[in-house]
Amino acid sequence: MKRKKQLLGMTLNELKKVAQEAGLPPYAAKQLADWLYKKKVASIADMTNIAAIKREYLKEHFEIGITPPSDGVKSNDGTIKYLYPVASGNSVESVYIPTDDHATLCVSSQVGCKMSCIFCMTGRQGFTSNLSANEILNQIHSLPEAERLTNIVFMGMGEPLDNTDELFKVLEILTSSYGYAWSPKRITVSTIGAKGLKRFLDESNCHLAISLHSPYPQERFSIMPVEKAFPMYQILALIKKYDFTHQRRISFEYIVFKDFNDSVQHAIALAGLLKDIPCRVNLITFHAIPDTSLDSSNIKKMELFRDTLNERGIICTIRASRGEDIFAACGMLSTSRHT
Ligand code: SF4
Repeated sequence: MKRKKQLLGMTLNELKKVAQEAGLPPYAAKQLADWLYKKKVASIADMTNIAAIKREYLKEHFEIGITPPSDGVKSNDGTIKYLYPVASGNSVESVYIPTDDHATLCVSSQVGCKMSCIFCMTGRQGFTSNLSANEILNQIHSLPEAERLTNIVFMGMGEPLDNTDELFKVLEILTSSYGYAWSPKRITVSTIGAKGLKRFLDESNCHLAISLHSPYPQERFSIMPVEKAFPMYQILALIKKYDFTHQRRISFEYIVFKDFNDSVQHAIALAGLLKDIPCRVNLITFHAIPDTSLDSSNIKKMELFRDTLNERGIICTIRASRGEDIFAACGMLSTSRHT
């Protein structure tokens, strides 16, 4: 049996084609978008301003495409890790992180990842497939706490800028008036600097986070093979051509490893590297994963690192670690710990 196409995750242009195919007037695309993204209907039958006969046609060829999470595990700190089934029997994880005044969802963009960063469980898994726009958006749309969300970060499984076509459809739907009408200021895309970075800088106003993890190319290469294909100096040169003083912010993510990248010399070198970029640095605690020689640094060293950057005019904070007990913290997502 032919699989029905999913409406959730379609841009307005794609919905115009659906309307045309169904023999509906062009303005019906906007009505479809309203039902999908504003009224959040669960079935095509509920789209009551579409003629009944046209709804029957749509039901024959399309479905809404909502898939609730198949599992959820709650951490002692309130973080919840959800498991979402995706195509071909695979699953991905999303992490819901509530705080006193914010509620953030960390969203996945791929099943596995090609980038092989040695500190990351997803990288260990290898790459299986890109997620479709439907599968990315569904993690947000079907989240049990969706109405409480204030922020979305694309920092889950996979490299979002290695799946740019589908990611961009989702960003458009999230930020357009026909879609969820979110401010781009509430959305951050995190990357290690893949090939889609220039397109992101040209086309999106969402915030950007770059995973750097070392100020030295050779050292970065030793833990992030991507350094060979997309060297950090090229990434920084590209970033310097764009404005980060107004709407869009840029931050650099720095996982702090014991006796590897946590020295004062590293902090001074990092401050030198970023001195012309209006940015902030987030220091992240490393969460040990099996079979690695890397270890977590300690809080004293992280504070010294932070202070060294702050003294040199770079805003630096130590990011609170969340969800470690349920394997939901940074670098720990792998879909193998849902019990
Ligand atoms: S850190 Fe990000 S880019 Fe690197 S392997 Fe993990 S998911 Fe992929």
